[in-house]
Amino acid sequence: MKKADPIYVTQPALPPLAEFLPYLEQIWNNKVLTNGGPFHQQLEQELCKYLGVEHLALFSNGTLALLTALQALRITGEVITTPYSFVATSHSMLWNGIKPVFADIDPHTFNLDPARIEAAITPQTTAIMPVHCYGRPCDVEAIQKIADNYNLKVIYDAAHAFGVRTEQGSILNAGDLSVLSFHATKVFNTFEGGAIICKDATTKTRIDRLKNFGFVNETTVVAPGINGKMSEINAAFGLLQLQHVDQMIERRRAIDRAYREGLAGIRGISVPGYLGEAAANYSYFPVLIEADYGLSRDGLYDKLKEHEIYARRYFYPLITDFPMYRGLPSATAENLPVATEAAAKVLCLPIYPNLTEADVQRVIAICAEYGRS
Ligand SMILES: *Cc1c(COP(=O)(O)O)cnc(C)c1O
Repeated sequence: MKKADPIYVTQPALPPLAEFLPYLEQIWNNKVLTNGGPFHQQLEQELCKYLGVEHLALFSNGTLALLTALQALRITGEVITTPYSFVATSHSMLWNGIKPVFADIDPHTFNLDPARIEAAITPQTTAIMPVHCYGRPCDVEAIQKIADNYNLKVIYDAAHAFGVRTEQGSILNAGDLSVLSFHATKVFNTFEGGAIICKDATTKTRIDRLKNFGFVNETTVVAPGINGKMSEINAAFGLLQLQHVDQMIERRRAIDRAYREGLAGIRGISVPGYLGEAAANYSYFPVLIEADYGLSRDGLYDKLKEHEIYARRYFYPLITDFPMYRGLPSATAENLPVATEAAAKVLCLPIYPNLTEADVQRVIAICAEYGRS
């Protein structure tokens, strides 16, 4: 029997190459490679329509979008954020000379716990940067209430939340700004890419200047901006991806369902329930390995690896375990018991559009081997 191919936690979805060639021909013909060219403009418009948002500025990646979002709102001092995320969330603060203040998460949502946000506010606090972890919506109403009470800005790191909607509409309309990533590993990818979503044309103009060195016109520079522009190749690819993204999310949904069915009843593996969102994007499939499972979390991680199945421990280690954050007063396990426990238990199983039903069953079978009652 042929040895099964390795299975990674994710694999980028790519449309048929032939579909991309006409876009390249157009770029070769018009010789516009970047600086807000026709594909860039078209992708901004089509993403606004698809996502149900007012204004969107494309970036070359999500991290530059986060950096620029903090600049656009002139954030200084302290920002309250989550330790349970990809490290770019708080790196964007250090790059801006801002002090991250870590607050604990809610065990059900994996997102910042609003009560803990309020407790972390000091006179230096200027903003909150929550993450819709795994695309699971934050309690945006409670967070907005706190922000309004204390006059704070809210910037959502929405890198996982492409297309996520609740009964109130797109989750990307919450807060002052939301930041998307279109990295290869995300639900919607442009190879590398990102975006800031904002609510008014003035803010959009400010963001567009900041991502282009601060230029207003040929001879006027109004801010120490950066180069964060998305190229025409990436924007063209995004336009093509957008035609396939619904189908890709639908495929993720089927895999999510198969995992939930297959893992139900395995002792010691708990699967976080849906949060009731009207539209999830199934970007990740996290499970928690409890004490009564037949292996430790790392034991299962290693066991899967032996079978060439590369699950990932998102998010372990916590951001607060990295050396540039470890010394901060808010970075202790005592301050972050829920996040610390989640980081010790979590395992993200492979989920991506091209994962086959047989692959899913292979993963489930290995998980089941050590969880029989
Ligand atoms: C992927 C990711 C980012 C960074 O996005 P890039 O496009 O890779 O720069 C930021 N925050 C979170 C939560 C992410 O998952």
